[in-house]
Amino acid sequence: MSRNRLIIALFLIVPGLLFQDAYSQGDVTREGDSSPERTYETRLRVVFAGDIMGHDTQIASALATGEPGYDYHPCFQYLKPYLQEADMAIGNLEVTLAGPPYKGYPQFSSPDELADALKEAGFDILVMANNHALDRGQAGFERTIEQLDRRGILHTGTFKSPLERSLHYPLVVQKNGIRIALLNYTYGTNGLRVPPPSIVNRIDTLQIHADLQKAASAEPDFILVSMHWGTEYQLTENSEQRELASFLFRNGADAIIGSHPHVVQPIRGAGKGDLVAYSTGNFISNQRPRYRDGGMLFQLDLVKGVTGTAIEAHSYLPFWVWKPATKKGTLFTLVPANADPALFNDPPMSAGDRTKMLQFLMDTRANLEGRAEVQPGWLD
Ligand SMILES: [Zn+2]
Repeated sequence: MSRNRLIIALFLIVPGLLFQDAYSQGDVTREGDSSPERTYETRLRVVFAGDIMGHDTQIASALATGEPGYDYHPCFQYLKPYLQEADMAIGNLEVTLAGPPYKGYPQFSSPDELADALKEAGFDILVMANNHALDRGQAGFERTIEQLDRRGILHTGTFKSPLERSLHYPLVVQKNGIRIALLNYTYGTNGLRVPPPSIVNRIDTLQIHADLQKAASAEPDFILVSMHWGTEYQLTENSEQRELASFLFRNGADAIIGSHPHVVQPIRGAGKGDLVAYSTGNFISNQRPRYRDGGMLFQLDLVKGVTGTAIEAHSYLPFWVWKPATKKGTLFTLVPANADPALFNDPPMSAGDRTKMLQFLMDTRANLEGRAEVQPGWLD
């Protein structure tokens, strides 16, 4: 980790929450020669993770560490370098932090220690507009927001009131002199009514149009939209996703990242106003059938120069949810699926697990054919 990344400080700045650090645009221009032929470039890496789930077996695993309380840190130990090395890491929190009783499917409430581990793993922002936001009613909804606030984890997509939304939406974050506006919407809330004054951002094209205009008025360098959409377990996007993507691009979105199908869906396009990753799949879950037992980290590299901000590259890291049996119980841990399985030796990965991880890797490569894959070099 670079020294600059260690000295990042977070400040609350109205109207949005901004990251600030030593790479602010002001510092760069002050140092430089202002002659027109001199140029500067600054870069930003954003990493997206998919659905952060909390099934009963995960809760049991987090409890069975031999220590008092719940511990989710082992879940993210092998992906942490990717999340921490990114300038911004964003995930979809698909459970509530509603307090006990802790429960998995169908109405999730996970221990607060999950948020501790996510923060420690490197997550900066959680998107919250999804079909499980109201699993534990208004009290659970509000408590979830409070637990993230308490830990300094930025979030968007759900709000305690219209005032909160008007003050903090779209979320505008800044790092390395690049300002990003982040928007987030869900297709629904599993039929659960949203109790006023709570707000869960729904996919409503009139509202989205207005929000994109508000985002543009903040003059960000890049507008990212996180969509909770699509058909569960379907390996390609549906026509509604395609139509919504083109609507978002027509109205100012620069890139779109999707979640909800619990499987990886294709990446289409490559440039600003064109790039969409339809579904990043599961992040962590106990879904074990083929295609659902892993996901991808989607890595977006932006570059800002005198002519504006562009997508310099994008890539994906396929990872698999490994559940080895240990003396303390079943461990849940995410492992890069393209790494040598011999590296995961505590306990050794079984032949059966190696086969499943390889299957996930092959399936993901087939679905994302032609896209750059992140190599797990740090493990060597
Ligand atoms: Zn969902």
